[in-house]
Amino acid sequence: MQITIDSPDATISCPVNLAAPRARMVVANWKMFGNLALCRESLPRLSAAAMDGVELVVCPPAPYLGEVGRLAVRSGVHYGAQDVAEVTHGARTGEWSADMLAELGCRYAIVGHSERRDRHRECNQTVAVKAAMCIAAGVIPIVCVGEMMSDRESGQTEAVLAEQLSAILRLMKKNAMFVLAYEPVWAIGTGLAATPAMAQDVHVFLRRQLGLFSPAWAESVTILYGGSVKADNAASLFAMPDIDGGLVGGASLNVDDLLTIYRAANI
Ligand code: PGA
Repeated sequence: MQITIDSPDATISCPVNLAAPRARMVVANWKMFGNLALCRESLPRLSAAAMDGVELVVCPPAPYLGEVGRLAVRSGVHYGAQDVAEVTHGARTGEWSADMLAELGCRYAIVGHSERRDRHRECNQTVAVKAAMCIAAGVIPIVCVGEMMSDRESGQTEAVLAEQLSAILRLMKKNAMFVLAYEPVWAIGTGLAATPAMAQDVHVFLRRQLGLFSPAWAESVTILYGGSVKADNAASLFAMPDIDGGLVGGASLNVDDLLTIYRAANI
């Protein structure tokens, strides 16, 4: 049975506290890398380093979520999945639902990563339904948006981002808790990060778009930057007023680098 959420009144089980300052956060996206040894090496070190002011989230490949969850018990480290199905259950070999993630203790799920949009042909509507499914299950979606280099070169960055975001906002209730990640596709895995000023400009644009929906809510939404965040550029990116932390791929596989990036978000 397919459940499609097509109204902004979809059940929201994790409303944001508009009075609280928005969360700062570093999210490690291991993609399809790592192994049990990395889980066992990194979680104790990350737990020891976890600070109140900045959330630290590990998104390992799904087979390691149980082990990461076990290692993260009573630590300050949160964990999440890298994707989720857009239906609650069904004959979907190789997929998992938001309810299953909630049952495993996942606080977050990444949705709409460009690697899924590209390789798995996920459209804006699919990404939006996945985000809504997470929210209904009490899992906070980390929704990725980002333009291709050709979009940027043709002056289409804002139009592309607005379209990606509007699909999400159509299904979003005003006070839903979600995290937005701006990940320019050309910066992912290339070593070519956006400059802090370039990323800040886009984050301001995204927050303004959220503000059309609800100004107070827009101020509460954590907007992460992702795309070649490294130990040596994290501090300058995170110093920007609208960059609330990072979604980190390659550099998150090295615990020392991840800790350097995490500490850089504590400002
Ligand atoms: P990267 O990946 O840090 O390796 O560029 C970021 C991401 O894809 O989330």
